[in-house]
Amino acid sequence: MEYDFEEERIVEEIKEGNAKKILLQLPEGMKKEAFRIAGLIQKNTDGEVVVSGSSCWGGCDLAVDEAKKINADLLIHFGHAPFVRTDFPVLYVELYSKLDAVSLLDKNIDKLNMNRIGLVGSVQYIKQFEDLKKYLESKGKKVVIPKKKGFSAYNGHVVGCEYNSLKSVEDEIDGFLVIGNKFHSLGAALMCVDKDVYLLDEQSNNLELMNGERDKTIKQRAIAIDKVKRARKIGIVVDNKIGQYNMKTAEKLKNELETLDKEVIIIVVNEFNPGLMNFYDVDAFIDTACPRIAIEDYQRYGKPIINSREASVVVGKRSWEELLEKGLIGFA
Ligand code: SF4
Repeated sequence: MEYDFEEERIVEEIKEGNAKKILLQLPEGMKKEAFRIAGLIQKNTDGEVVVSGSSCWGGCDLAVDEAKKINADLLIHFGHAPFVRTDFPVLYVELYSKLDAVSLLDKNIDKLNMNRIGLVGSVQYIKQFEDLKKYLESKGKKVVIPKKKGFSAYNGHVVGCEYNSLKSVEDEIDGFLVIGNKFHSLGAALMCVDKDVYLLDEQSNNLELMNGERDKTIKQRAIAIDKVKRARKIGIVVDNKIGQYNMKTAEKLKNELETLDKEVIIIVVNEFNPGLMNFYDVDAFIDTACPRIAIEDYQRYGKPIINSREASVVVGKRSWEELLEKGLIGFA
């Protein structure tokens, strides 16, 4: 898979802004590029580069505190679109894919069993939407690219916890075609549970129906919620990351759970990880941070873990059916 690192734009923007100390923040799969990018900047500008070694899972995970601590005057964040507001200067390099998406879809077109299609994808593919739309229309399909909503930065753009735009076109289409990866397509499938969702996957070179994966996940979530309902001691986890910090929700949930005679503690972390299992007497956890941690990483934790939307079922504010219908399982 090849991505556009927009090297020229990076150098230009650093020179224009006269940045002297720059913090680079790369997502996990791209940290291998750190030496190359740092070298490029140091060779072509007066800027000194420091690289963030902290985890970076989304645009919510902006290393502003690190940048301030090292006295940087610019943060370059790779791989995600703007997600959180900050007063710190940030240059986003969204890493557009160089994939020939039309050829990949053409190879797999016989598997695409729908006529009215909602076309969406992760930020790496937003530049490919128009070509894909034209191609699909040439095959007699109707294509809708949903207008951006919520945390989405572009039309058709989806984020792991933001699929609101899909709901707005649900009535016009038979299903969705997601260009991206399993993470993004499963999120779409959980948002619109009655629609077929196909993933066009650059990694596997395949077009895959996500409905089976969705069914498995929904069962897993129903079981997890049921276990948390029966838990006596609950740990509510708050993550310090700039775009995931949600103490208010944690405090509200704590009060609501205590009225149900649960014992509750709030646990603050810098990074959600299975070290939480050291709280050995906690029966179950509620994740108030990234809602996908409870879903994607469920098997990494030895105790039931649900997100705060799912917790609304535990405290009786929503029914399981409403959660499903509104697509709230993986929603921030
Ligand atoms: S909260 Fe989770 S899903 Fe949402 S942007 Fe951050 S890492 Fe992605």
